[in-house]
Amino acid sequence: MFTPELITGTLVNYYATCKREAWLYARHIHADQEDDNVLMGKTLAELKETRLQDFPFAHLHFDKLSKERGHYCITEYKKTLKNPSAAKAQLLFYMYVLKTGLRLKKIQGKVVCKKQTLLVEDTPETMAHMAQTLEEIAALVNTPTPPPPVRQKVCGGCAYRNYCW
Ligand code: SF4
Repeated sequence: MFTPELITGTLVNYYATCKREAWLYARHIHADQEDDNVLMGKTLAELKETRLQDFPFAHLHFDKLSKERGHYCITEYKKTLKNPSAAKAQLLFYMYVLKTGLRLKKIQGKVVCKKQTLLVEDTPETMAHMAQTLEEIAALVNTPTPPPPVRQKVCGGCAYRNYCW
């Protein structure tokens, strides 16, 4: 049984990109390990783990936690922003887990890619949306078969494309 506690930031990102990709990833069906994007992702994850290994929420692989104007702020740096809404969903997940886990009053978030900065708001609506999303992800992963592939722009660069086309 897959439960919301097993959800990671990467899974939220995949869910916001493609539900089939999220299902395959959550079921430990491995993407093409030689794919350039997978190799780059692994290297970045290893670097982040090294820097955050003593932090109690080390399983949340965001880049930076700081305090700005009395609030905690999570910053995530991206080398590219192919899917801004997925990057924002992933960051909102980190904000949600920290806010609920540490009982924070407010938390802020930003995704930085080169000169572009995306702000992610902590509001009752965004937090309720994330709580709902986590329930939906758990329900998706618990279905016995993946959703059918839906061709979209990101398919060409997706490491799971050999499972779909
Ligand atoms: S190739 Fe396209 S449909 Fe298949 S998992 Fe990747 S994004 Fe989803």
